[in-house]
Amino acid sequence: MRIRIRRALLSVSDKSGLIDLAKVLAGFGVELISTGGTRKALAEAGLAVKDISEVTGFPEMLDGRVKTLHPIVYAGLLARRDLPEHMKTIADHQIQPIDMVVVNLYPFASTLAKPNATTEECIENIDIGGPTMLRAACKNFESVAVIPDPELYPKIIEELKANDGALELETRQSLAAITFERTARYDAAIADYFHRNFQKPSEEPIPALMAPFYKLKSTLRYGENPHQPAAVYIAPGIKHACVVQGQQLHGKELSYNNVLDADSALNLVREFSEPAAVVIKHNNPCGAAIASQLTEAFANAYDGDPQSAFGGIIAFNRVVDKQTAEIMATGQRFLECIVAPGFDDEAFQILTTKPTWKKNVRLLAVCDLMAHRPDPKVDFDFRRVDGGLLVQAQDRDADDLATWVPQTKRRGSDAELKELWFAWRVCKHVKSNAIVLAKNGMVIGVGAGQMSRVDSVQISIRKAGDRVRGSVLASDAFFPFRDNVDAAAAAGVRAIVQPGGSTRDQESIDACNEHDLAMLFTGIRHFRH
Ligand code: 5GP
Repeated sequence: MRIRIRRALLSVSDKSGLIDLAKVLAGFGVELISTGGTRKALAEAGLAVKDISEVTGFPEMLDGRVKTLHPIVYAGLLARRDLPEHMKTIADHQIQPIDMVVVNLYPFASTLAKPNATTEECIENIDIGGPTMLRAACKNFESVAVIPDPELYPKIIEELKANDGALELETRQSLAAITFERTARYDAAIADYFHRNFQKPSEEPIPALMAPFYKLKSTLRYGENPHQPAAVYIAPGIKHACVVQGQQLHGKELSYNNVLDADSALNLVREFSEPAAVVIKHNNPCGAAIASQLTEAFANAYDGDPQSAFGGIIAFNRVVDKQTAEIMATGQRFLECIVAPGFDDEAFQILTTKPTWKKNVRLLAVCDLMAHRPDPKVDFDFRRVDGGLLVQAQDRDADDLATWVPQTKRRGSDAELKELWFAWRVCKHVKSNAIVLAKNGMVIGVGAGQMSRVDSVQISIRKAGDRVRGSVLASDAFFPFRDNVDAAAAAGVRAIVQPGGSTRDQESIDACNEHDLAMLFTGIRHFRH
């Protein structure tokens, strides 16, 4: 619904663009109310403007600390126009509604940035009335428009002119969303300043700037290395049990590296609908398998590379049962942490009483991975770079086997395609340059994190050993040269999947045809840096 603006309260530190906006408002007969400096600027431009103290019957006081903080202002902003009781209440108190708030805040951040800013100066630049007015106007977006930034004036002027002095509901909603973000950011900067200046460094290892957006769950013993302070935070609005919200049923406190690896393990294991197990070491899968039974999935995931799996983190996409626990607990196998949607009683008993790991193994119960899919609207990847932050949508669900295009004379059997599809999804979770060799629903060799793709191919072949014959290969990005195909073919690989897109694709295709390999292009790349 459109709202015709009749009364506007203007109180701005940054006075740029103010007069242009106020003139348009005045042109539509809007009554202008303002605070000291803003009122002066408007009056000097020849506009009729009422001082806030005339409205409240109170002077500005305490060096401007109290200007607009008065029930007459807040009842005028917050009264619900659709509720007759609200309208009667304000009328009984001779309070008139306010339909627009134009406020930008004391420049706290730029005061801090001044080389010689004193504490007093910084504190005095914490705006109190401004954010309060903004928030009140936001809350009542049904009836009130809020403009927190001169950058927004031109668009608002345009809409006022087009709508005979009215603003649409969508505009008011969008302005409210922008404004709440501004006040949150403003308070975050103040919180950060207070933390840095008034708290002992040991109390908060991580920038407090995080705190308004992410809730501190716990500080960790240390980060990736013992000299790095660290903490784990929970994102707002998370209702499902992921790694940071999971229930730890047993074992020592999760470390920074445990959380990181457990998260990677879950992200990989949730790719599969059939029973699956994955083993992660240093944030890369060293084993992964799908099978009709969880027991077999575990055995194959662990045995894909038992040397690397020692001390790894394992994740399952099913509740861990007695039989699977028994296999895990046999022999010399050692696992740091086991993550699953749950552990049945017998499994829990077996895992927590195995003499060599009973105290140490961490058991983490998370949500039902089949039922819970991450929400693409909130699941972003964040990475700090010096002076900034990189943000991207997560690399999820972009694949469809049906869109793969065979490139070779041999198009690949159904069985090979099934293996390739499995290998491809594992490959997505391996650091680039990533090569995954798979056979019988099991990863048999991984080449991860090499700067040259052919090195990754060689490593995966070495890892697979004599199992490589008849296996399939997935590559996260295109082959720049045919040497990758030649090496894979010589070792006995039968089929390849890769994105394609190299200027030398044809060389790789020719090589496959020479060696009678099937090769398919996905058209989608899965770099993971
Ligand atoms: P002016 O230049 O008009 O005197 O002051 C404008 C500034 O005062 C704006 O940045 C606005 O956010 C701030 N302001 C408005 N009301 C109050 C109040 O009651 N207390 C404080 N501390 N600041 C206010």
